[in-house]
Amino acid sequence: MNKMSISDIKDFKGKKVLVRCDFNVPMKDGKITDETRIVGALPTIKYLLEKGAKVTLCSHMGKPHSIFSAEVKLNKKDQKKVDSGEATKEEIIAKAKKDEPKKLTLAPVADRLNELLDGKVTFAHDVIGPDAKAKRDALKEGEAVLLENLRFHWEEEKNDEGFCKALAYDAEIYVNDAFGTAHRAHASTAGIVQYGIIKTAVCGFLIEKELTVMGDTLDNPQRPFVAILGGAKIADKLNVISNLLEKCDTLIIGGGMAYTFLKAKGYEVGTSLLDEEKIGYCKDMMEKAEKLGKKLLLPIDTVVTTSFPDPIDAEIEVETVPSNAIPADKMGMDIGGKTRALYAEAIHGAKSVIWNGPMGVFENPTLAKGTIAVAQALADVYGKCTTIIGGGDSAAAIQQLGFADKVTHISTGGGASLELFEGKVLPGIDCLNDKN
Ligand code: AMP
Repeated sequence: MNKMSISDIKDFKGKKVLVRCDFNVPMKDGKITDETRIVGALPTIKYLLEKGAKVTLCSHMGKPHSIFSAEVKLNKKDQKKVDSGEATKEEIIAKAKKDEPKKLTLAPVADRLNELLDGKVTFAHDVIGPDAKAKRDALKEGEAVLLENLRFHWEEEKNDEGFCKALAYDAEIYVNDAFGTAHRAHASTAGIVQYGIIKTAVCGFLIEKELTVMGDTLDNPQRPFVAILGGAKIADKLNVISNLLEKCDTLIIGGGMAYTFLKAKGYEVGTSLLDEEKIGYCKDMMEKAEKLGKKLLLPIDTVVTTSFPDPIDAEIEVETVPSNAIPADKMGMDIGGKTRALYAEAIHGAKSVIWNGPMGVFENPTLAKGTIAVAQALADVYGKCTTIIGGGDSAAAIQQLGFADKVTHISTGGGASLELFEGKVLPGIDCLNDKN
């Protein structure tokens, strides 16, 4: 890792530090339902408080309207409502201004942080307004304030320079510890440094760990290195497939994206998820694998249904067929038993594994067997192999199955880790100071 982290800074005493965290936690009726992200941010915050810094914390929460901005901008969905006459702009904004300060406020996060950090955290009811300024001015050494939801300003996602200056306020040091948004060039994730407003910019412990574990495995893996990709759409993972083929020894494909590969092999895929436009791409990838001498594993058998379950966890009838004999009226929903064994065997022989995306429609218990088999195989090699879960659905699956402590690393950022797998430079990391 060639970026500076907070442990590279010697003196935090009395320093004003702005920390970008990822406190985008799931909430129900004003209560936090999963505090993993809050707990994940604690090592960095505790470290700064113990060193005597004056800490301003910031984060986004959900997808609010820009109700704190002078002009509230509508998203595409709202614009459609306005265009179709379903609602007026004024009605949409009035509803957002009424509901969102309650639903998408970070106040419950501040309360929880305050409990976890012995009463050292206050909450500012705005982001760059009078309350934020007053509370930042009042900070004593070893105290923190959490600002309100950054995305109550559209200027956050637009990386507006004026907003960056106001958000930086009088901070001398910037710490990015929000891996989940490190692939976005927003004001709080990159702009503050890109515009030269805060010169000293380092990562926190959470990002440092993500980069050390994932970066090292991608750049210098223990071999054999197996990459497993699943999920719904192939179009989302084109560059990931291509980049990982170059780095890994075996690439395993499952989930909805497998059927475009099977079609490219000339098989009938029935009514399975298929991206006609990407058939040529899949052929190219199969040729690329052959040229590079890499193994590209596709499902050899498939669990099929007559239709997509509705609701998604409804009871359904399934049958397993060879992948080259999917009936024209059937839909591929999960990898079959022979494929589960084949993929588990590849994982059992690996020294490093990265995994992103479920092997089937895992939300339905009958169609979760492929995803469970991969999670089980990763748990089997725990301690003998570096196993990395790239966030999102696969992270949720491994947690639900109770295997979270049987893998080396579960990333806190699905989108960000995918971009890392693509070989992309993440703006929230690129902007940080280099070591030396
Ligand atoms: P992604 O967001 O691309 O990682 O995709 C995750 C989604 O892919 C999950 O909601 C799964 O239900 C879905 N998925 C996995 N396998 C299939 C399949 N064979 N057909 C349709 N959807 C699938």
